Amino acid sequence: MRLVEKAAKKKAVASKKERREEKKLTRQAILDLKPLSYWEKRVERWCNRYVILRDRHLHCVSCGTTKGPWNAGHYKTVGAHPELRFVLANIHKQCARPCNKDKSGNILEYRKGLLKKIGVDLVEWLEGPHEPARRTKADCQELEALFKRWVTELEALIEFEKGAA
Ligand SMILES: [Zn+2]
Repeated sequence: MRLVEKAAKKKAVASKKERREEKKLTRQAILDLKPLSYWEKRVERWCNRYVILRDRHLHCVSCGTTKGPWNAGHYKTVGAHPELRFVLANIHKQCARPCNKDKSGNILEYRKGLLKKIGVDLVEWLEGPHEPARRTKADCQELEALFKRWVTELEALIEFEKGAA
C-alpha cells in the first residue's frame, strides 16, 4: 500500500512539473511571436529610467528648469533616427512640460544645453551620418538586461547615499 501511495505521489509531482514546463514553453512561444517593436519598447522603458537616474542631479537639458516631471528626451528623434534610439549621448533628462511634450523637444535650446554637457565633438557626431539600425531581438534582450542592471545598481547607490547622508 505504501509503495502504491508513493508511486502515486511521485506521479502527481511529475505531472505538476510537466504542467509547469508546458506553461513555460507556452510563455516562451508567445514571446517568440512578439515583433521587434515589442522588444524595443522593453529596452526603452529601462533606458529612459536609466537616463533620468543618471541625470538626477541635473536640470532640464533644454530650458534649465529643475522642476519635473521628467522625460528622457531624444536630441535626434526616434522616428527620424532609430539608430540613435538607445545611444546614451542622444538621450537626456528633459522636463515633460513644456520642453518634451509642448515644444517637441525644444531642439534649438536642447542643442545649446547639449554642447555644454557633452561637447561639440559628440554633438557633431550625433548630427553626422550613421549606419542604419540593424537591431535584432537578441540585441534588444541584451540591451534591456544591461539597462536594467544599471538602473538596479544606481537605485542601490542612491539608497546607500540616503543612508549615509
Ligand atoms: Zn525644459
